[in-house]
Amino acid sequence: MGELVTRFAPSPTGPLHLGHAFSALVAHDMARAAGGRFLLRIEDIDRSRSRPEWERQLVDDLHWLGITWDAPPLRQSDNLPAYAAALNRLWARGLIYSCRCSRRDIEAALSAPQEGAEPPTGPDGLIYPGTCRPAPGFVPAGPRPEGANLRLNMRAAMRETGDLAYTETGIGPGGQTGEIRIPAAAMIAGTGDVVVARRDMGTSYHLSVVFDDAAQGVTHVMRGADLTEATRIHVALQRLLDLPAPVYHHHRLIRDEAGKRLAKRDDALALARYRAEGATPNDIRRMVGLAQVPGPKAG
Ligand code: GLU
Repeated sequence: MGELVTRFAPSPTGPLHLGHAFSALVAHDMARAAGGRFLLRIEDIDRSRSRPEWERQLVDDLHWLGITWDAPPLRQSDNLPAYAAALNRLWARGLIYSCRCSRRDIEAALSAPQEGAEPPTGPDGLIYPGTCRPAPGFVPAGPRPEGANLRLNMRAAMRETGDLAYTETGIGPGGQTGEIRIPAAAMIAGTGDVVVARRDMGTSYHLSVVFDDAAQGVTHVMRGADLTEATRIHVALQRLLDLPAPVYHHHRLIRDEAGKRLAKRDDALALARYRAEGATPNDIRRMVGLAQVPGPKAG
C-alpha cells in the first residue's frame, strides 16, 4: 500500500469551532501515526461568504493546535479552470444539463401530484422532479452554457457507472463500517439530479471536493458524519471522471452541552474564544475526547 494522505478542508466563512478542531486533529493524528502526509485545502468557492480574514484566522488556529501541513494549501478559488474543464467533459458526454428551475418551481412541481404527502428528499434536500431534464439519448448540440445551474442526469450517469460502492472506516449511512454498496436505482430514486455547478459559483461543493481530493492525492477522507449522505454523490462523480476512490472515514460530530450540532455561527464555541480564555491545545483535545499530546509545545 502507498503512502497515506489525509486532509482538512474548511470553508473560510466563519471561525473554526470545536467540531473543526476535532476533524482537523483526527486527520492530522492519523497521517502522523501512519508516517503519511496531511494537507490543507481552503474551500472558498462561495465568494459571497468567504473572507481572507477567516482564512488567516483558521491557519493561525490550526498552527496553535500543533497542526502542520506538508504542502502549500490548495485554494479552491485558484482551481476554477480545472472545475470548468471537468464540467465540459461531463457536458460533452450528455451527463449534465442546464436547469432554470427556482426552488419555488421545484416545490410547486413536487407538491402538485400528491397533495399533502411530504415530497422525498435526498442528500441535497428535495429530489429534483426532472422538469429540465433532457430526453434519454440527449447529445448536446453546442458548448456548455456559461452562468447556468447544471444538474447531473443521474439516470444517464448510472447507465455509465452501474451500482456504486466505497469503503467506509467510520460512520456509514446506517452507522455501518466496511464496504458500502449503493445500487444505481437508489441513486436515481433517492439522490436524483443534484446540482454540480451553481450559476453564481461555476462549480459546486460536490464537484470541487471530488476533483481536489484527487488533485491532492488524498487517500483517506476524514470528515464529519454530517457528510456521510453526500459521499454517494462524490463516489458517482469519481467514477464518471475516472478519479481514484479514497477511503472514507466519517467521524462523530461534536455537540454542544444541549446536544445540538455546532454551527459556524456558534461563535461562543469558537476556538479563538477558548484561546483568549487561556485554554491550551491539550485542553481542546480533552474537550473533544482525544488523547493528550506530550511535550511543552502541545501545552
Ligand atoms: N468544506 C466543508 C466544510 O467546511 C468540508 C468538506 C469536506 O470535508 O469534504 O464543511
